[in-house]
This record gives sequence, C-alpha cells and structure tokens, in this order.
Amino acid sequence: MPATLARVRRAQEAMRARGVDALFVGPSADLRYLLGYHALPLERLTLLVVPAEGDAALVVPELEAPRAVASGAADLVDVRTWGETEDPFRHVADVVRAAGVADRPVYAVQDRLWSAFTLRLQEAIPADGWVAGTTVMRELRLTKTPEEIAALRRVGRAIDDVHRRVPDLLRPGRTESEVGRDIAELILAEHDEVNFVIVASGPNGASPHHETADRVLTAGDAVVVDIGGTGDGYCSDNTRNYVLGAPPDGYQELHDVLLAAQEAGVASVRPGIAAEEVDAAARAVIEAAGYGEFFVHRTGHGIGVEEHEEPWIVAGNDEPLREGMAFSVEPGIYVPGRYGARIEDIVAVTASGAERLNTVDHDLTVVPTG
Ligand code: ZN
Ligand code: ZN
Ligand code: ZN
Repeated sequence: MPATLARVRRAQEAMRARGVDALFVGPSADLRYLLGYHALPLERLTLLVVPAEGDAALVVPELEAPRAVASGAADLVDVRTWGETEDPFRHVADVVRAAGVADRPVYAVQDRLWSAFTLRLQEAIPADGWVAGTTVMRELRLTKTPEEIAALRRVGRAIDDVHRRVPDLLRPGRTESEVGRDIAELILAEHDEVNFVIVASGPNGASPHHETADRVLTAGDAVVVDIGGTGDGYCSDNTRNYVLGAPPDGYQELHDVLLAAQEAGVASVRPGIAAEEVDAAARAVIEAAGYGEFFVHRTGHGIGVEEHEEPWIVAGNDEPLREGMAFSVEPGIYVPGRYGARIEDIVAVTASGAERLNTVDHDLTVVPTG
C-alpha cells in the first residue's frame, strides 16, 4: 500500500482549514489509508494522534509494537509504546501537549473509534468541541490519486480473472458453500485478502446480501456471484450472473433489462453531474421495463481502502461527481421466491466520463450441465 507521509500532511492541511486541532484515529480504514498499518481492533488502545501542526504519533500497546514497526508506520510517525500496566491515554495527552494545541481546542475522532475509547479520551484531554473524523478524512478519501486508481485497476483485473474461472466451479450437485470456498481460494491467489463471497443460487438470488450456505445447485438455477478482495490495500467488488443450463422462465429477459440499466448508469457518469443522477439513469431503464419494485437498493457505493465508502450512488445524494472518484454501478432485480440478478462494475470518473475497472463479459453466462 502506497501510504506516505504526504497523506498525514494532507490531513493536517484539512484540519487547519476546518479549525480542528487534533485528529484521533484508531484501527480502521482511515488508519490504513494514512499509515498503511492494518491494526487489530483490540481492547488495548492503538491510536494515531495527528495534531494540526507538528508531528503525529502512533500510540500502540507494547505487544503490538513489532507489527506496527513491520508495517512501516515507524518510518512515517513516532511510535510510542505503552506497557501493559500503563495508562495509554497519558501518552495521548503527552503527544497533544507536545504539539502545543490551542486553548479551546476542537478535536476530531475517527468515526468508528469505540465509545469505550472515545469517552476515556474526552476525560483525558478536555476540549471545547468534538467532531467526527470524517470532517477531516472525507475530502482526502473521496477522490483518488492516479496511483490509487491504478491500484483499483489492478484489483479490478484480479477479480475479473476470478470470475472467468467461476463457470468451471458451478455444477449441479455442488453446494453454494463448496463453490464459495473454491472462489475464496481463487480470490486469495490474486489478492492479499478475501473480503466476501456471495454465491446466491435459485431463489436465494433474490436476497442481495444472501449468506452463502448449503443449498445444492440444480440444473436451471440462476446464480448471482458477487465477490471481492483486497490487494495492495485496495478493494475489488464485482458481480456477474450465471445459469446452469437453460435459463429459468423470464430470466434472460430480466438480465437483458439489467444489462441495459447498468450500461445507462455507466454511460451517465461524468464530472459535474450529481451522484443521484447515476442512480436515476439505471433505475429509469428498470422501471420502464416494469421491474421497478424489484430494484430494492441504491445503485452503488464508493470503493477504495474500504469496500463501501463515499460517494453513495443513491437518490437524494446531490454530491457532484469529480474526476478521481471511484464507485460501483450495480443495479439489481430481485424477484422474491424465484431468482435475482445484479451486474456490478467499479468505475472511475475521468475528465470526460467513466473508465470501467471491470471488463469481464457482462452477459449472462450459460454453464452447460452436460
Ligand atoms: Zn453490497
Ligand atoms: Zn458487490
Ligand atoms: Zn458493491
């Protein structure tokens, strides 16, 4: 992961611009983004302390220090270890004091820092105001640098390669779980981590986040396969649809509509339009074909160091798209009790439109059952 001190510096600029005196970041995507350190969310405090001016420090439990150092974090910031019987918040207070923060400080706390830590923090370093960490981090992560887009492109190709091998794994008589385990292995061969594997067959396909389970695949099943992993710190996420032998009644037609909707969504992407317009473009096609009630979720989500992050591609979000944003376009149609389908690509906003970071065939893949 290409974390550099430049990201910490950009966070400090954002803090100064927003009147934030220090930012506190526990184990989270923000920590990975800023330091490249994949810290474990433990009951022992790990906390990156970033004052608006001066040097940031990472406060870590002694037994985690070797991992923190191995991650390269020590090359970027001061690593301060606290011993098992020490109060870690004293170290935090020391870092804040050394940075000489203002008299009536405003502090930002990373959005997912546990309340157990946040409440202790508020006791240890009284402040005039506390704001959510997103106040500082949102702008940094919302648009990607060319290096980040390149990383997303690489994991996009990696997950495409996994999809190309899915047809070999789908056979009547196998369970979703068996197929899922094989897919996880393929993901791991191309990524550093498996983030999720959804294999939703037959009626299970009507549940967008179906938990891959014991259902046995049978001829005539439609199968929704939505998979993602992390490579070099960046996430992949791609959905395609398969059918074992002849498609069930109406499924090919449904898939044709979905494909047109996904095309329309991607085609609408360009800098300056509101995020919700991408949702509207995809949804219009599905509604016009009479499937509107079966498209039950937003059209997409941003992606980067997290699978789901801003911008949300959803009605009501008037955030203008900007070059460098990356998000999914993933309309779906779910017919309860029967089947479902979703087509998902990650796209990056370019100066003139969208670059698809997934290019594996979008058509319904018919797997011969022999
Ligand atoms: Zn999802
Ligand atoms: Zn997905
Ligand atoms: Zn997705």
